Amino acid sequence: MTALIIDGKKIAEGIHQEVADTIRKRTAAGYPVPGLATVLIGEDPASQIYVRNKIRTCEKLGIHSVAYTLPADTTLKTLEELINFLNAAPDIHGILVQLPLPEQIDEYRVLSLINPQKDVDGFQPINAGMLSRKNSTPWFIPCTPAGILKLIQSVEPEIAGMEAVVIGRSSIVGMPTAQLLCRNNATVTICHTQTRQLAEVCRRADLLVVAVGHSKLVKADWVKPGAIVIDVGQNRVEDASADKGYVLTGDTDFDAIVPIARAITPVPGGVGPMTIAMLMRNTLSAAIKFSV
Ligand code: NAP
Repeated sequence: MTALIIDGKKIAEGIHQEVADTIRKRTAAGYPVPGLATVLIGEDPASQIYVRNKIRTCEKLGIHSVAYTLPADTTLKTLEELINFLNAAPDIHGILVQLPLPEQIDEYRVLSLINPQKDVDGFQPINAGMLSRKNSTPWFIPCTPAGILKLIQSVEPEIAGMEAVVIGRSSIVGMPTAQLLCRNNATVTICHTQTRQLAEVCRRADLLVVAVGHSKLVKADWVKPGAIVIDVGQNRVEDASADKGYVLTGDTDFDAIVPIARAITPVPGGVGPMTIAMLMRNTLSAAIKFSV
């Protein structure tokens, strides 16, 4: 078997197209232009790149974006004032606070301040709580998990009853992904650093999602033949021969897994583009549902 390489870039482009077309039609009909505010605190180079890419995509699709960049020593009070202002701004439908935050700022407290109807990242505790409740529907599903589900469904639209293993239990990827797969009726196992016989657990998976941040952790013999493998990892591995001095790798041993899996996402070009596409979709959806 040779795995299908799931083209996240192409699937994301399709979503961009849909979002841009809908925005064009809606604005022509007099509805407001969707607006996204990004808030970046500090100078983490990776966060700067993520925010820049989000803003660029907004521009491309016709979403109005406003970027706030604050120094690393910003206080919680300043941030609170900014979020309160954005919560009340009628031209802003989505608020994204780029994580991680500097140490002195309590992440949970900041996320709690965001109006849940503008929480296009889906991390506000009300949305996060609704994701975990069986009969509730969150206003927004976190972008990376939503993108992961789309990628899986591009190969296998119906995942009910499938055995899913998610490695990683972070609040932004692993845990909400596990919850989302469970809501879609997969049977889900969540693994982490304390999991015993990790390889053995992974070998049970029809769907294996890896969100760890450890280059090539998952080996070929951890993968069940015919499994769908979603590699969320983005690891910068030093490489003097590369232009940037590093190469980007995933959390799986991609080349070795290709002959075994049914489908796998590459890094880069798999989950990454989907995260931005789902953010654009959530921002449009915020404008449709909650414009005042
Ligand atoms: P994180 O907050 O550091 O969480 C990592 C998780 O992996 C933790 O739950 C940890 O377990 C678990 N883990 C770490 N080493 C492990 C090991 N050897 N065996 C089993 N479990 C292990 O990271 P994150 O924010 O979820 O991100 C994970 C990766 O995804 C990173 O490479 C990140 O860059 C990438 N990412 C990509 C996107 C995208 O759009 N493509 C978006 C977000 C993140 P414990 O809970 O026990 O510590």
